[in-house]
Amino acid sequence: MSERAMQKWNQLVARHAEVAATHPHDEAELPPHRPEVAILACSDARVPPSLIFSQEPGSSFVVRVAGNSATPDVVASLTFAVEALGVDLVVVLGHTGCGAVTAAMSATADPNLNPILTPIDEMLAGCATCDDIDAAIGANVRYNVGRLQRDRGALGAAITAGRVTLRGAVHDLRTGRLIELDPVDASVS
Ligand SMILES: [Zn+2]
Repeated sequence: MSERAMQKWNQLVARHAEVAATHPHDEAELPPHRPEVAILACSDARVPPSLIFSQEPGSSFVVRVAGNSATPDVVASLTFAVEALGVDLVVVLGHTGCGAVTAAMSATADPNLNPILTPIDEMLAGCATCDDIDAAIGANVRYNVGRLQRDRGALGAAITAGRVTLRGAVHDLRTGRLIELDPVDASVS
């Protein structure tokens, strides 16, 4: 067991206790789970969706996976947000300097990362403009927006019917700005 890691965990527990003390919790007043938006974002620690969009607890249903790929479990989570929680806005959020996209473009990627890299590899295989990392990151967002649009389940049906709006964007870590990719062109090339 790493002593340093245990210290971090103890710090997290202490911070949780501080937050709990300043925000008294009454289960009888537990608010309904009614988020306004579902966000598919990368796991990168520099891009916490609730913070960069200044969202209060309860307002964002966030699904995070390195590379922000719409894999089946991600699609299932977003489908739950739409069908069970009534979310009508789904955002795919990429970011500059994405390590997952960079790794997928590398010839020496760690095979342990394959479940994360394979969906990005599939995107790159169909991308005619992905010769630089910024282009690939934008294309990856568009690709995953396209995957959600083409979903054959309830999520895809809700998007097709216009009950759910889909947006794609890239958070630029160099400038702190949001690059909107809308109206989304789901074609990768
Ligand atoms: Zn990333």
